[in-house]
Order: sequence, then C-alpha cells, then structure tokens
Amino acid sequence: MLIRGGRVYDHDGDVHQPPVADIRIDRDCIVAVAPNLAPKAGEAVIDARNKLVIPGFVNAHYHSHDVLAKGLIEELPLEAWMLYSKMPDQATRSAEEVRTRTLLGAYECLRNGITTLQDMNNRQPLDETYLDVVLKAYADIGIRVVFSSAIQDLAPADATPFWREMLPADVLAAVGGQANDWRSQVDFVEAQIQRVGRSRPRLHWALGPSGPQRCSRDMLAAVADLSARLNLPVYTHVNETKAQAVQGRLAYGRHGGSLVRFMGEAGLLGPRVNLVHGVWLSRDEIELLGETGSGLVHNPLSNLKLKSGMAPILELRKAGVRLAHGCDNCSAGDTQNLFQAMKMYCLLPAVTNPMPNDLNAAEAMRVATLGGARSALLENEIGALKPGMKADLALLDLNDPALMPLNSAARQLVYSECGRSVETVIVDGRVVIKDRRLETVNEEDLRRAVAEVSETFRRDYERLKLANARLCPHLIEAHRAAWKEDIGIHRFVGPFDDRF
Ligand SMILES: [Zn+2]
Repeated sequence: MLIRGGRVYDHDGDVHQPPVADIRIDRDCIVAVAPNLAPKAGEAVIDARNKLVIPGFVNAHYHSHDVLAKGLIEELPLEAWMLYSKMPDQATRSAEEVRTRTLLGAYECLRNGITTLQDMNNRQPLDETYLDVVLKAYADIGIRVVFSSAIQDLAPADATPFWREMLPADVLAAVGGQANDWRSQVDFVEAQIQRVGRSRPRLHWALGPSGPQRCSRDMLAAVADLSARLNLPVYTHVNETKAQAVQGRLAYGRHGGSLVRFMGEAGLLGPRVNLVHGVWLSRDEIELLGETGSGLVHNPLSNLKLKSGMAPILELRKAGVRLAHGCDNCSAGDTQNLFQAMKMYCLLPAVTNPMPNDLNAAEAMRVATLGGARSALLENEIGALKPGMKADLALLDLNDPALMPLNSAARQLVYSECGRSVETVIVDGRVVIKDRRLETVNEEDLRRAVAEVSETFRRDYERLKLANARLCPHLIEAHRAAWKEDIGIHRFVGPFDDRF
C-alpha cells in the first residue's frame, strides 16, 4: 500500500509544518517514508493530498465494561461512582451485550484516531468464555489491544478509608464486598496468556492488579514475578483519589504510609510498571517513580469528572516519570478522545502555576503516541511513522476548520482539533476506517445491536440506581471524611505553588 502526498507528522521533524511525503506499507509494517515514492505494480494507493498523516494514538487506560453507561452518571466522586459503573450481575450479562459494548468502545476509539487501546478489563469471576467474546470482538473490529484482566483480592471495605467505621451494617454489607483468593486469579491470567498467547492478531498482554490498596502483598509479588517472567507491562490504579492516599496513610504505616512504597517493597515498581492516575502522589513518591523508571498514565477527563483533582503533571515531568495518556471509563469521562486528554495535559498545569514552562503541544503528541507505546513495551513497534514500525496511523482532513489555516500541526491537533477531521484509520497495515466509516464490522449491524442491548441495559441500570439511592449518601459521607484529612498534598486549585 502506498499513502501518497500527505503531510507526514514526525515527532523529530518539523511538527508545525510537516513536509509532504509518501508512506509505503508492506503487509503490517511501514517500509519507507520519503517524498515521491513511485507506485509499484499492483500496489494499492491512498490519495493523501491535503491530509495530515499522524501516528495512531495509544489510549493507555480504558475499561470496556461500562461503555453502555456513557452519559448516565454525573456528579459523583469515585468511591460512590463505583457503585454505578459496574452492574452487580456482571457475570450474567449476555454475550451479545459484551460483544456489542466491546465493539462500540473500540469503534469510538478508532473514529478518534486511536489505534491501540489498553483495556483493563473488569469482570469477576474471571471466565474464559467471556474473555474469548471480548478478544474476538477486538480482533473483528481490527484495533490493536493491550489486554489485562483486572484482579484484586481484598474486599472493597478493606481498601477504602472509613467504610468499616462509618457505614451502617446494612450499607457495609451491600457495598463492602468480600476477599478473594489471589492465587487462582493470577493463575487464571497466566493460563489465558499461555492459551491464547499472540494467536490473535494485534493482541498484546498486560497485567492489571486493580490497585495496591485492593491487593495483598502476596498478590502484588506474584504479579511482579509474572511480569518479569513473561516481560509483561503492568497497569494499576494508584492514588487516584484523596481517599486512596488517606488509605495509604492509615493502613500502610509500615511502608511510611505510602502505597507506592508498598508496591516497591512487593517488587512492583520499575520499567514495566505503570501507575494509573497518581493524582495524590507525594513528592517522595514521585521521585521514587522517577528513580525506578516507573511510568504514569494520566487520565485528566475522569479525574476531573469524578472530582479526584488534577495530577501533578509538572512535578512528574521534572522527576523524569514516563507518561502516557488515557481516557478511562466511558462512564467517568464519557469519551474516548485523546485530543481532549492532550489539551487537558497542556492546559491544566496553569491552574496551579502561572509561569511559562516547556510543556508544549509537541510533547503532548509524543505522550499520546510514543508514551502510550512505551507504557505497553511497544515503543519499537508503534507511536511514530518510521520504517520498521507497524503501520498504525490516521489521515486527517486538512480542510477541517480546526486545521485551517495550518499554522502548526502540533498545536492545532492539541488545541483546535476534537476528532472531527479523522477520516481514514489504518491499523497493522489494514484500513479499518475509510471516509469515517468502519470497513471491518458492519455499522448498521452494530447500531442495531447497540439499540437492542441498550434497552435491557438501561432497564437494569434504573434498577441499580434505585438500589443505590439508599447507599450512596453514606459513601459520600465517607468521601467527605477522607477529604477532611490533612495529608499535606493539595490537588485542587489552592495556594499558588511556584516551585516548579
Ligand atoms: Zn481505571
């Protein structure tokens, strides 16, 4: 395949005025990027004149289980939101619903130029048949996926501050959950990786301990061991909310009140490990991440919608922490759109620091592509348009008002574009979106399936809402108690901090 005459975005080149070049793709790989490549006999040619060609985005944090809940939930902090984002009968949702929500989430990603997503997949109990439905949906639609099953062995009541002290017995019984055996979960994950392996195209594996506050030390150590043995990336929610940081202070005194130190002592920090969120990290914890080569996936949309605060982006950068962008749940950010995440990344630091700095749009583009690729240990395969890399890319229409006049590709991608100009998307050398339409899965069928499964889903969700109405106010009070704790960190707009 030859992509002809587009303006090709190169992180290391002119990111403002990308020069015109052709891209030759052989099967799944880019083999040449140069001006005026002559078409070969029988080669498919894509006319990219007046298009901007960019590397596909990597959505480094996402969960597919609540795609159908998009737009249903508002005005809840995380610990209460969790009551709504997961159907209590998740194990008996129909295969049709699971397939449909998986396809729909991937479809939204693709339409926004995301070619790789990291699905930290929530479903307990873990189940092989379910897993196959999800993986088949990803294979069918043609997106690249870094797949992990979310696992945890502690009961939510033991992972959240003040629940045991504050919640009435009946509320605690309803939301407190129960402890789970860790070994069977880690064994399941390893068995699935051995069984399915790389047999499905564009499938990469990762590990997803849900969060150090939700896992025993033994479980984290087993995950670290599996990650080392199979060279797998790890993603885990850490200090997303103030309540989680408070839990660290209250329950992890032996580790200096730090969930990050607890992870380190279990062997779960380092170049394969990515903390997700990290809004409430202390200076020491941030430095520890930098020293150990650990990464962080930044999810500004869900952090703000769930009232978690804003991650310390400037401090993380200064400490040399590897960064990636994610869009998180469809019910906690409500969009899979890295244009929005990149814009937040560039704009949010000014909330606490009015001084100019060197964080810019070109960096946001790197984080959204190469940063995400690095988080998944795929930095030599995806994230840039260079010979030898996988052909994962998007063609954007330069006639879109967001990109006219083209004064700076990088800045207009970050500050002006919203996804509207994404016209053609190629994953692994295969055209998946052409002229804004899916080439791999029939869109009419998908629309029909969404309409069908949504009817049941919304009915069940209404029932869930009724059941939660009694529970939610108690969780909000526990949230308020966590909020009142002084842990010496501020992640909401507060006093002027000019140290970075
Ligand atoms: Zn998450």
